Amino acid sequence: MTETSEAESRAQQLVEAARQLFVAGVMSHSGHANLSVRLDADRFLLTPGFVRGLEAHQLATVGLDGQVLEGELRSVSAEIITMHSVVYRARPQVGAIIHTHSPAATAFAVAHRPLPCRTEPMLRFGQPEEVPVVPWGPRGSDVSVRGIADVLERRPTTAAVLLANHGLLVFGPDAAATAHLVVAIEESAEAEIAAAAIGGAVDFPAGALEAVRESIARVAS
Ligand SMILES: [Zn+2]
Repeated sequence: MTETSEAESRAQQLVEAARQLFVAGVMSHSGHANLSVRLDADRFLLTPGFVRGLEAHQLATVGLDGQVLEGELRSVSAEIITMHSVVYRARPQVGAIIHTHSPAATAFAVAHRPLPCRTEPMLRFGQPEEVPVVPWGPRGSDVSVRGIADVLERRPTTAAVLLANHGLLVFGPDAAATAHLVVAIEESAEAEIAAAAIGGAVDFPAGALEAVRESIARVAS
């Protein structure tokens, strides 16, 4: 595949992932989100400040140093560049990042409560551990970006963080897998809150992750 068609294909995947978030019903009332996909070691594609009705040609190409290389971002979006670039820098294997204000996950973020891994989808789809909370800082500020970098360093295998008093930030190998994990996390947050009314969610038994891995390997072989 040529470089251009590879970039076009990643842009399409990002647009499709954004659409899937609306279809799955994990968006907040405002429809606020920003999504990005990595192009190479130095650049990524970023949504222009909106995601409803997004088309591939509206994505901007941004450098990991924060420079907008191609396309246009609404002024407010300049702040969110650093929220994405800090993750790409910290995790070279990450191919896509999604930030949403998904309501149930945001309830955990607002309550400064880490989201435990106590549901099958979270266990299977990339977050077999609790989602940690990053302390609040104004979006895109040094405090906020440093907070994200600190948590990523302390939690080298987490694929998501809750941004205190703000929302959710999820990262994965590609746009589709990352959107899938956003949905799994939002469902899990809903289930935790619902379970609280009937006595509270209960942890998996010890060894659950290993058992799931074995069963996935059995099905795949
Ligand atoms: Zn936000």
